[in-house]
Amino acid sequence: MARIESFDDLPRRAPNAAPPAPLYPWPEGYGAAMFLSFDVDAESAWTAKDPDNFNRLVTMSYGGYEARVGTPKLLELLDQLGLKATFFITGWTLDAHPAMCEAILKAGHEIGHHGYHHLLPDPGSPRLIEEVDAGLDALKRRLGVVPKGYRAPSGEFCEELRVALAERGFVYTSSFRDDVRPYRHILDDGRPGTIELPPTASYDDWMLGLSARFSPRPIFPKEHVLSIWKDELDETRDWGAMVTTVLHPQCSGRPMRLRLLREFLTYAQSFPDLWITTGEDIAANYLRHEQAEAR
Ligand SMILES: [Zn+2]
Repeated sequence: MARIESFDDLPRRAPNAAPPAPLYPWPEGYGAAMFLSFDVDAESAWTAKDPDNFNRLVTMSYGGYEARVGTPKLLELLDQLGLKATFFITGWTLDAHPAMCEAILKAGHEIGHHGYHHLLPDPGSPRLIEEVDAGLDALKRRLGVVPKGYRAPSGEFCEELRVALAERGFVYTSSFRDDVRPYRHILDDGRPGTIELPPTASYDDWMLGLSARFSPRPIFPKEHVLSIWKDELDETRDWGAMVTTVLHPQCSGRPMRLRLLREFLTYAQSFPDLWITTGEDIAANYLRHEQAEAR
């Protein structure tokens, strides 16, 4: 993909060629969906910005919270609520914290791919493909998992990545912000890509509750975040669409944040028509309808 150096070279077309999502029904009894997902970055969220952050021990400790406290607490909460979720894990995290990752798998949750070093998949990035393959290798080596789903570290994408994931057999991705239902990617050469399960910034806890020297943000209180999360869910249910969470154990595994998440998930569970599930399940539902339509 050539760099676009000037506005004269800017293509006059939509960058994403996929049409709006088809209105496939949710499984029997459900009118809307929640893709419950977590991004397990651990320290790689911080070393991605500068590998030498490894020597900055307090910076590292933000990520280190995940293995020591955050992830076990989240697993406990999901178990109490009887919910299954998807955990997108970086390869580095698998290598550095194998016991934490084994516990996620053992609890019956889906494991997804989240890069190796959590490097932003910027167009032309020299480690783009290496990140995908090293992440796959770590998942296989540590957990025996061949992931169906991928979420881009720091939420960026490019055509080279879309092609690489489709060619490696990924079923779904979850990074694009352009819809409220699953849809099928179309690659630039016209071939089908992965199924997209779009997230929104509204459910990214990092934006609302994590503050550090290198990631300074305001911390929002429970009432504010609950108001955002409930309003987004209520309207999405009315639309018959889906919400996707982007939660991080180093944020939502903190005491006050866990309390907030418990309250939100309990609220979500009060709607019997809301399908709270993994990306794998939502993608499989899409695939069933797509295949039925093709017949
Ligand atoms: Zn991440």
